[in-house]
Amino acid sequence: MSLLSERIINMSTSATLAMAAKARELKAEGKDIIGLSLGEPDFNTPDFIKEAAIQAINENYSSYTPVDGYAELKQAVITKFKRDNNLTYTLPQIVVSTGAKQCLYNVAMVMLNSGDEVILPCPYWVSYSDIVKVAEGVPVEVETSIENDFKMTAAQLEAAITPKTKMIWFSSPCNPSGSVYSREELEALAVVLRKHPNIYVVSDEIYEHINFIGGHVSMAEIDGMYDKTITINGVSKAFAMTGWRIGYLGAPEAIARACNKIQGQVTSGANCIAQRAVITALNESPSRVQFMIDEFKVRRDLVLDLLNDVDGFTTNTPEGAFYVFPNISSFFGKTLRGKKINNATDFSLYLLEEALVATVTGEAFGNPNCIRISYAASQDQIIEAIKRIKEAVS
Ligand code: PMP
Ligand code: GLU
Repeated sequence: MSLLSERIINMSTSATLAMAAKARELKAEGKDIIGLSLGEPDFNTPDFIKEAAIQAINENYSSYTPVDGYAELKQAVITKFKRDNNLTYTLPQIVVSTGAKQCLYNVAMVMLNSGDEVILPCPYWVSYSDIVKVAEGVPVEVETSIENDFKMTAAQLEAAITPKTKMIWFSSPCNPSGSVYSREELEALAVVLRKHPNIYVVSDEIYEHINFIGGHVSMAEIDGMYDKTITINGVSKAFAMTGWRIGYLGAPEAIARACNKIQGQVTSGANCIAQRAVITALNESPSRVQFMIDEFKVRRDLVLDLLNDVDGFTTNTPEGAFYVFPNISSFFGKTLRGKKINNATDFSLYLLEEALVATVTGEAFGNPNCIRISYAASQDQIIEAIKRIKEAVS
């Protein structure tokens, strides 16, 4: 009998976290690594949120919270969904978890049976495929093209549906492509989905506010989709709170109740101080964090401008999030500084070793021709990183 379960043996390590760990390790060895691998804002959590956490400590918040989150926090989530997304949820439809990642995990565990298929438009966020697999679901990857801004069309969705399809998972704005689905594009997908009322959608909207074209549209807003959609969100990105570990979902009540049930057997609920801080974060207007979004847009333009000047990189124009996902397949089969580049993983490792820049291979996101570059870094770091990349590949 083996020590470890097949479940964990078959699971891949999170490529984003692994690359960030590797970059940290090399930095500790004294190497001047520029980390563009992790999707983590380089801003501090805003003071008004930190003050709410300090106040919660002083007011002796230290006990277990309700498993699905403090009622005041769930109310703040309801207010946020109404204010920002025109979605009406009630308290039993909301579950607060230890990051959006746990929301996704809960949903997979409570909705998937062995062999249920989950459609993942590629590129998808790194953890979707493994979370689906650990719940014994089967990821069904739908390839998209850079020409279509890496978005799945209604025809592609229709072609991927089988009698075993249980769900579709996607993020908009998308990690890693930065693509944002317009209302018309979501409506076109909904036309297909309305013909298949047994299919549910996980709409991961954690980059909602980091949107450079304005007008975020939630899948649950689209005709006929509210009862079929699990809306996932969290504070990691827009509020620069990755380490606080708070995410939340709004869903049909039966699904939310099931998430509450599994969470009661896994974590007993999210951290109490972080929850108190997030009440303040969500009750404030999103305009409080607009300065970060404005800065991300400046960096997006900077990265695109600089990459434009690097031979062999082809990118779409990301409309949100803080990633670019260039196609670098023109380097496959070439030898750079004595190193053969066979695939995106080789290329990403080459950049780490030769340019001292950490990126993430597109293979982790279901697209083997690209790499992901996070521009959640200072403009100086971005300029230096792309200068080094340019030198390393020329
Ligand atoms: N979804 C997407 C698309 C992400 O990029 C991330 C990464 N933070 C998550 C979910 C998980 O976020 P959290 O930090 O709230 O667990
Ligand atoms: N979501 C971020 C990323 O894609 C953080 C890492 C993670 O949660 O895996 O880089």
